[in-house]
Amino acid sequence: MELESENLTKNQKTVLSVLEKSSEPMKAYTILFDIQKKGIKSPLQVYRALDKLIEIGKVHKIESRNSYIACKHENCNAKNSTTFLICENCEKVIELKRDNLSLYFSKQAVKDNFQYRKHNLEIYGICNDCKGVN
Ligand SMILES: [Zn+2]
Ligand SMILES: [Zn+2]
Repeated sequence: MELESENLTKNQKTVLSVLEKSSEPMKAYTILFDIQKKGIKSPLQVYRALDKLIEIGKVHKIESRNSYIACKHENCNAKNSTTFLICENCEKVIELKRDNLSLYFSKQAVKDNFQYRKHNLEIYGICNDCKGVN
């Protein structure tokens, strides 16, 4: 099987590498600011690259923060559904990977005669580093 990351364009690879180096989620304009030296000048180029990276599961969008994070999981299949743990203290984001979440939600939705398709969940709390600080 061919690795999808090998098919990435130069722009996509550049955007991905910036996100992979970042310890926190980044907004599109912050990404653009970081990579302008590398020849990516327009926001549109960043958005196009992000769209593709999201499509293949390399990058996830955190809706409430309007920001993006590189997936740290091998072969993440979370192309539609994402679940994030967000620390209320330091804004650290951890992707929660549990395959049974989609099954759980689809079962719950059926009870309300609703067909589940995907979810984008954000769960707020305190991360391990911040435990005991507050
Ligand atoms: Zn992921
Ligand atoms: Zn924290």
